[in-house]
Amino acid sequence: MIVILKENVSKQKVDSLAKSFEQMGLTIHYSEGTHTTIMGLVGDTSQVDMDAVCANDIVAAVKRISEPYKAVNRRFHPQDTHIPVGGHNIGEGNFCVIAGPCSVESEEQIICVAEEIKKSGAQLLRGGAFKPRTSPYSFQGLEANGLRFLLEAKAATGLPIVTEIMSEMHIDLFADVDVIQVGARNMQNFQLLKELGHSKKPVLLKRGLSSTVEEFLMSAEYILAGGNPNVILCERGIRTFETAIRNTPDLTAIALIKHNSHLPVIFDPSHATGVPWLVEPLSRAAIAIGADGVMIEVHNNPACALCDGAQSLNFDQFSSTMASIKKRVAAEGKRMA
Ligand code: PEP
Ligand code: MN
Repeated sequence: MIVILKENVSKQKVDSLAKSFEQMGLTIHYSEGTHTTIMGLVGDTSQVDMDAVCANDIVAAVKRISEPYKAVNRRFHPQDTHIPVGGHNIGEGNFCVIAGPCSVESEEQIICVAEEIKKSGAQLLRGGAFKPRTSPYSFQGLEANGLRFLLEAKAATGLPIVTEIMSEMHIDLFADVDVIQVGARNMQNFQLLKELGHSKKPVLLKRGLSSTVEEFLMSAEYILAGGNPNVILCERGIRTFETAIRNTPDLTAIALIKHNSHLPVIFDPSHATGVPWLVEPLSRAAIAIGADGVMIEVHNNPACALCDGAQSLNFDQFSSTMASIKKRVAAEGKRMA
């Protein structure tokens, strides 16, 4: 981090600022120009509050050189992280497919979908029990009953389950869930992230609709900083000026995040596009750019789905998408998780 000082500042004020940095364990390299002095802070600057430094009356500007995140940073953890989930390893060259309906609608439905996706080769079952809906009049999910039906589907098929949490008050209900999903709308629900940091349960953190890659990684940092290393990131498209599809898939973010962080990154082509026929080509593209998995919405009868039917694949579409994914994974020299 670089701190540029204003002209003609008193030595006493510079020393006092320097002391505050030294108390944080940082060392300071001075660069004296004709008019200005630059302080180069060396050490772990992740805890330095840039705004507070800027507010100091002798400071003209502050610039970050290194990333503000530490625990998720590849710089301090060069090896890929892999996360064990129900006998599968997510990350480190293993490609996983998470599939299932947007929301759990009944016990029969979720068991039927679980059996079909398993047949096609998916490794994990998804399904929302607590649904974040734009309208309060839309189906809100079966809540605790939905979780119960997911556990029935897990018992019937052996597939580990992934499902979304909306409030830290529900954490106890998720005790038997294999992967807790934090949806796009809660990516910056910091209280929820802190609580999940106190557990060891794998967390699937989805990128916020309008979040930068850095904000996304800072949210993951909350969970790791709390003591939970088991975070899987999910790129699910962002809001742009383009309205032709539901969101704009940011495939670059996958490569960028894998470059900057050691955490596994998966891609959600269903929410990223909202278009069933784009799921297969976008899944191939995600594999090619280095994703560790995909999450795909699959429904027994998309036309009658209570949530996101228009973007869901039916069983035949999912089966052919899986065949294509397996081929692409092999071509990239990876293996299915
Ligand atoms: C979901 O996966 O069901 C979901 C609500 O996705 P997102 O949070 O990415 O909108
Ligand atoms: Mn959905």
